[in-house]
Amino acid sequence: MGVDLGGTKVLTVAITPDGAVQQRCYDTHHARGEVEVVDLVAAAVLQCAADQEVTAVGLAVAAWLTADRSTVTIAVNLGLCDVRLGEAVTARLGVPVILENDGNAAAVGEARFGAARGSRLSIMLSVGTGVGGGVVIDGRVLAGGHGLAGELGHMSLDDQGPACVCGGRGCLECYASGLAIARSAGTTNAQDAVAAARQGDPAALSALESAGIALGRGIAQLSAALDPDVVVIGGGVAAGAGDLLLQPIRRAVRNVRSLSTVVDPPEIRLAACGPEAGALGAAAMVVPRRS
Ligand SMILES: [Zn+2]
Repeated sequence: MGVDLGGTKVLTVAITPDGAVQQRCYDTHHARGEVEVVDLVAAAVLQCAADQEVTAVGLAVAAWLTADRSTVTIAVNLGLCDVRLGEAVTARLGVPVILENDGNAAAVGEARFGAARGSRLSIMLSVGTGVGGGVVIDGRVLAGGHGLAGELGHMSLDDQGPACVCGGRGCLECYASGLAIARSAGTTNAQDAVAAARQGDPAALSALESAGIALGRGIAQLSAALDPDVVVIGGGVAAGAGDLLLQPIRRAVRNVRSLSTVVDPPEIRLAACGPEAGALGAAAMVVPRRS
């Protein structure tokens, strides 16, 4: 089973050992604190399993985790702080639980089942309210020394740039998040900006162009550091915008990429798993790889 636990939504998929999705369940929730969150996860798993045997659970959480993935350091929207969440769910359900950050799990989902299938090193950037990310090497998440690798939205593009919620300045998220796109397009949200851009609205087109250029500059830096063969652009905003976002990204990557004389640029692809990427990736983490 794979569970993607967001601040207000929980999406669960049941997959067979060869990766076929057997069941998917979706619900909203108001769970806060360890007791409620464990109750919620257990209920979601049992409901989605129906009468099938559950052998393991991959749990993707909108949270910062310790490097060893035993503990939720902090999950603001779930009211969790220093909680050994995997252990707590194992104690309830009696099966092994693997914990992962939701952005990383989505990157694994795309690498195993979606747009980055067959890649050696893939990077996913998700454009939603913020900008999330994840790095997957040979099917495995790059967790980092402190567990925070993949916070790609907080790569700084300009140390004199606007202050970011993370304490940094000029983070990619300040230029390319759904909030930033809406603000620069003069719309109430990024979906409206995408709709306006499709009607040819100049401010909305320019907002998506600027976001794409920022993402492309970030990808160019990541390419020098990590040499991805595939970069997946996901999240609700990207799904709606499609080429309006991908074209400026590709252009910016070509313009500023280093090492362009020795390696090909990464392929930039739109995500293929949609909102299920996180749950699929979480499930994939507890399924042995065949290839
Ligand atoms: Zn930041």
